[in-house]
Amino acid sequence: MKEKKPIPITCQICGRTVSRSELMPAEAVRNSIAELIRKRHSNWSRTGYICLTDLNRFRAEYIEDLLEAEKGEFSSLEAEVVDSLKQHEFLSSNINVEFEKALTLGERLADKIASFGGSWTFILTFGAVLVVWIGINSVMLLRKPFDPFPFILLNLVLSCLAAIQAPIIMMSQNRLESRDRLRSENDYQINLKAELEIRQLHEKLDHLLSHQWQRLIEIQQVQIDLMEEVAKRSGSGTES
Ligand SMILES: [Zn+2]
Repeated sequence: MKEKKPIPITCQICGRTVSRSELMPAEAVRNSIAELIRKRHSNWSRTGYICLTDLNRFRAEYIEDLLEAEKGEFSSLEAEVVDSLKQHEFLSSNINVEFEKALTLGERLADKIASFGGSWTFILTFGAVLVVWIGINSVMLLRKPFDPFPFILLNLVLSCLAAIQAPIIMMSQNRLESRDRLRSENDYQINLKAELEIRQLHEKLDHLLSHQWQRLIEIQQVQIDLMEEVAKRSGSGTES
């Protein structure tokens, strides 16, 4: 045996005196774990030793802390997303229904008249009325027509109708325009929200990529430490 004199070494944490192979120099302990130990034991020094039982306990605790922190971070991130969704509510709403609700009776009537005035039904009916009017007054010409040949009364009726129809159509057109404007505003809002959501998704992905990888690597390093120890010990076991 080339080993030095078996100086009794004690573990800093539990104070037990154990064999050299059961101890780990404090210097060899990973920084992040050493910090955790320092938090628990203020008299922890970098020059002493720690027994493997204690070291493994702290390693497990460290990994547990890591996982817990991650869980907390994630739930807070999720809460943020839910919060923002709650605040924005649903931006998309049926503009047509809301617009229709806000219409007054006169406006609704104007819309109906305008849509009727622009239909084939109106043109055909009106044509029929004209033909009947002219026909009646032509046939009754010999007796006593109520609107004789140049049809002056028909002229008056027609110009009155045109005079009324023009502003009604304009009213309806104005309303169509304002409805279109509302719709485009709504579209803009929805697009904006979608953009924000996508940005949030990006942030979430970035978080996953950067933070989680870091954590995983840290956990893996601790595991590698453990494996190295196991390998060393099984190696020394076969030697002796
Ligand atoms: Zn110990």
